Amino acid sequence: MNKDQNQSIYDVIISGAGPVGLFLAGELALAKCSVLILEKAEDPNSPLKQLPFGVRGLSAPSIETLDRRGLLSELELHKRLKNPHQNSGQGARRQVGHFAGIPFHEGDIDTSQWIYRLPNSTATSLMSEIQELEIILTRRAESLGVEIKRGLAITGFDQTENNVTVQSGDRSFQSKWLVGCDGSRSVVRKLAGFEFAGTEPEFTGYTTKIDIADPEKLKSGRNITPAGMYLQSQPGYVIIQDFDGGAFHGSEEPVTLEHVQEVLRRVSNTDVTVTALHAATTWTDRARQATTYRKGRVLLAGDAAHIHAPLGGQGLNLGLGDAMNLGWKLAATIRNKASEGLLDSYYAERYPIGVQVLDWSRAQVAIMRPDPDARALNAIVRDLMNTRDGATYFASRVWGINTHYKLDGHHPLTGRSVPNFEMENGVTIGQLMRDGKAILLDFDSNAHLKDLANEYIDQLKYVSGRAAEQFGLSALLIRPDGFIAWASDSETDEDAIRRAIELWFAA
Ligand SMILES: Cc1cc2nc3c(=O)[nH]c(=O)nc-3n(C[C@H](O)[C@H](O)[C@H](O)COP(=O)(O)OP(=O)(O)OC[C@H]3O[C@@H](n4cnc5c(N)ncnc54)[C@H](O)[C@@H]3O)c2cc1C
Repeated sequence: MNKDQNQSIYDVIISGAGPVGLFLAGELALAKCSVLILEKAEDPNSPLKQLPFGVRGLSAPSIETLDRRGLLSELELHKRLKNPHQNSGQGARRQVGHFAGIPFHEGDIDTSQWIYRLPNSTATSLMSEIQELEIILTRRAESLGVEIKRGLAITGFDQTENNVTVQSGDRSFQSKWLVGCDGSRSVVRKLAGFEFAGTEPEFTGYTTKIDIADPEKLKSGRNITPAGMYLQSQPGYVIIQDFDGGAFHGSEEPVTLEHVQEVLRRVSNTDVTVTALHAATTWTDRARQATTYRKGRVLLAGDAAHIHAPLGGQGLNLGLGDAMNLGWKLAATIRNKASEGLLDSYYAERYPIGVQVLDWSRAQVAIMRPDPDARALNAIVRDLMNTRDGATYFASRVWGINTHYKLDGHHPLTGRSVPNFEMENGVTIGQLMRDGKAILLDFDSNAHLKDLANEYIDQLKYVSGRAAEQFGLSALLIRPDGFIAWASDSETDEDAIRRAIELWFAA
């Protein structure tokens, strides 16, 4: 083996320069860790990452995450992207999302139920493109000193008590930690022997760009049929769901024009003629999740840790949430600033969120099946979604509005994403979080709290002042990922805040 001479021992090696690996690398580098990303593909560009294939819906937690690192304003494409899953419509009947293809509409959502969402909050959903997102995340990672080596797939690794030696063919690299962000077929997950438990697929999904001789034979929008579902949102851009038990996707056969035509004819029950196949990709509803996210010095994040159907598209959001949660905890561990059990709280917090998303995708498949029982259930869910409470419930789940970690603490905001408070000087909490530090936010300007925060100055910054709306709160402890570790709306109990700070930040 050709061991690279004179090489440094990186704090972290990440396998995979997908959105999750890139975001995580940026988080670690922001906290002054040295990071190497090894990426299998030589070329970061791929037609499958560009429009229309690369369209991804971002939900509230991801949008907040990007805002908290100053990246949201760099996304440009969403200003002219049409959501392929949304039918046109106006005003109250404008479709703003779906569950199992059943739309919910803007005017039906009762946002007053989201009591801690402030008027200047970032959007609840936004269309993005994988390629644009990766370009922005690559730029950020590299500007913070992350090294990215492309065309180098991880092929093996060994871990000891203190470090990990990673192989890529005949080259090797060393680090203190290895994080597998290498997607659904993760080599890191397989080599480390993580159990990947879950359920088998019921369908093969196709995303295709095709020319059709007689497109009028297909209905526009989403169409559930006795054999599956097809969706034609823009001319030539067709998504198909074929309930074949996931057989075609599993066969790994190439997707030919003849095959797409056969499936489209059968699913749409038409004799439509496909004259050209420009690009196609397949996917399934296989739902699996690693039963732990850490083995020694090896961790998993993103699709490497969980896979599910892209219905209502939550995989990227789940992965970015993993990376935001893991970044500061792993960095604190590396810098010897982590409180006991901090790194393990990554799995404790993120695994249950993954379970919810996998079940959300399974529930959709269960009522999309083209059988009478599923159709009956589908009709009932449709009725519920047309109620105000129903639409509000589905919107809050699809957009991740109520994402919540079970943390110790009595205040209802504990474990929730911090509202985007706007301080007297016009600065928002999102803007104050760009440096990746935790914040002790003191609405009462209590000198004792300032002194306390200064004891942890490396990790915690003190912000005081009034906010335009502060829900009667006196003080909050906000983690670097934007989740509230502690909150008080009475006179601040200084012992309680000290205990909370020690819990999260005392080495
Ligand atoms: C059709 C479709 C639509 C979707 N729509 C949405 C949506 O609207 N919203 C949403 O949130 N999610 C959506 N998703 C899911 C989302 O795309 C994924 O969850 C997300 O891309 C996962 O990111 P990742 O970085 O974990 O993995 P990936 O994006 O898969 O990146 C993994 C990287 O690792 C590299 N790699 C692989 N093996 C190795 C190796 N051995 N060594 C080094 N590098 C390696 C790969 O080349 C790749 O660059 C959709 C998925 C599909 C298929």
